[in-house]
Amino acid sequence: MSSPDERREALKALFHEARGCVRCPQLAQTRHTVVFGAGNANADLMFVGEAPGRNEDEQGLPFVGQAGKLLDTLLGEIGLARDQVFVTNVLRCRPPGNRDPHPVEIERCQDYLFRTIELIEPTVICTLGNFATKLLRHDTTGIMRLHGRAEIRQVGPRAVRLFPVFHPAAALYTPSNVDVLRQDFQALPALLALGPPEQPPALVEPDLVDEDAPLVEVEPGDEPPPADAPVEVADEQLGLF
Ligand code: URA
Repeated sequence: MSSPDERREALKALFHEARGCVRCPQLAQTRHTVVFGAGNANADLMFVGEAPGRNEDEQGLPFVGQAGKLLDTLLGEIGLARDQVFVTNVLRCRPPGNRDPHPVEIERCQDYLFRTIELIEPTVICTLGNFATKLLRHDTTGIMRLHGRAEIRQVGPRAVRLFPVFHPAAALYTPSNVDVLRQDFQALPALLALGPPEQPPALVEPDLVDEDAPLVEVEPGDEPPPADAPVEVADEQLGLF
């Protein structure tokens, strides 16, 4: 468990790493920006969408287009705002023409998502649509069957309350689905009020220090930077609160 400031710095460092990512050669060429995620580094509630669209790619922030407006409205209806939650995606780069993410892209990008989740330690993860739901449940069951039903799932080392809902962009195509999405959102305050689920036993870290190893002299100027050296990323660039 880290302090709010430590979390924010750790997220910035991860963003810094992701910013130059070339794991997916096509996406690295066609994107304008890496859309890391934005919001409150200490949020209890995290949303995971699919991938940035055109507006997100231009602005470097998630859910800033029409789907984002609907997300803001639905959040407002349950008394929450974007600066109280963290919003990210399965992919950090826009697939050209907003095509579906390819399985290999999801695999290459998932490490950023899992590390983000591990740093924020949310109580509730609301997956928006099929891609996030399938990735975080490690299962191919679709959103039509799962939406609006909370379950406790282990994500990385921690247990979270996973809550799949329709993707706001998909709901915008089918107005009756906006009502379903709105109804599902109404369950979020009660789910948050439950607090974190019981956690699995902590993993015991292996002892990595070899006490018999000879000491190595470090030449002046060769010292590694301190692990907690601040990374030069402005909070606004990351949309962090
Ligand atoms: N749709 C998504 O899945 N993510 C965004 O950031 C925007 C639209």
